Amino acid sequence: MTRVGITFNKNHHLHDSLLNGYPSPENPQRIRNILGYLEDSGLIDGEIFSFYDASPATIRDILRVHTKEYVELIKTCTRDSRQSPGKDVYVCPSSFDVALQALGCILKAGELVTTQECKHAYAIIRPPGHHAGPDSCNGFCLFNNSGILARYLLEVKGLERIAIVNIDAHASDGTYAAFEADPRVLCISMHQDQKSLYPFKGFIKDIGVRPALGYCINMEMPTESGNPEYSLFYDEIAEKVLDKFNPQLVILECGFDAYHKEPLAQLNLTVDGYYRLIFKLASKWNVVTLLEGGYHDDLGLLASVVLRALAGIENIRDEVDQIDLLASRHAKTRKEFNNNLSLLKTRLEPYWGPWGHI
Ligand SMILES: [Zn+2]
Repeated sequence: MTRVGITFNKNHHLHDSLLNGYPSPENPQRIRNILGYLEDSGLIDGEIFSFYDASPATIRDILRVHTKEYVELIKTCTRDSRQSPGKDVYVCPSSFDVALQALGCILKAGELVTTQECKHAYAIIRPPGHHAGPDSCNGFCLFNNSGILARYLLEVKGLERIAIVNIDAHASDGTYAAFEADPRVLCISMHQDQKSLYPFKGFIKDIGVRPALGYCINMEMPTESGNPEYSLFYDEIAEKVLDKFNPQLVILECGFDAYHKEPLAQLNLTVDGYYRLIFKLASKWNVVTLLEGGYHDDLGLLASVVLRALAGIENIRDEVDQIDLLASRHAKTRKEFNNNLSLLKTRLEPYWGPWGHI
């Protein structure tokens, strides 16, 4: 039996822009939606899936990725929530405590896996993290959640090779900034074409810097890309690089905004698409999955799909007619995708090639 541990930060509702008097798509309803769905589904049985409590992380944990000045900036802004630490980032008086608790849940998820209490884990936390770099933040993120876990596992738990895989619709620019020169961490981000979407970073040409050239991989998915394109990128590049790098653990930055119903992006993953990607990762590696973005009503449904894929149990029926979905996508999407895939293969050839044929 594959055991999957689940953590979530119980105080997440105290990080809410409505406390400052205005709404945001990144709000407490996101986790409420997920927990409500999981409860109604009856999926959490205490055997395959179990909830775990966690203590808050410490400033020391944060400083493995962020600068002291940046941590001070976040503290100062939380004291005066009229100040914002970055573009499209809000803070409230309790945001710092909420973030510490979220990070504690993430570190706990990592420990559940490294101690082999669970094969995989899922930290359902907010605020998200992958747009937060060592000394700056953007896009609803305060601290780099995946990066803080990776450095904790490397520097405290003695791991040597970790992969961070981003499937959020937006490029994982904060994670890239933290690890562009760290060859202990392989970063693979598949995200919507950066000519068309925030944060307008994470291009195919960006592959890290010495001594980690080739260890940051950015695949730009053209708008309307869906299950077949994600699957092709995974099979033709991501899995081959992961096989060669041989990570001891994979951290999955799992945003739900690459979903076909997402209002803030233009991608077409469905329930099947999410399931297949995560199932493939989890069948080869231990995976700690972190909630990133996703701002539509199906977050609960997709969280249950994540759990099913991690545990390797049968997926729920995909309500999207794949034939209709394929027909609705432009031929232009596949052409651009093939072009991007080929450009990326050429760019990465010196580090991870030859690619062979499948
Ligand atoms: Zn996103």
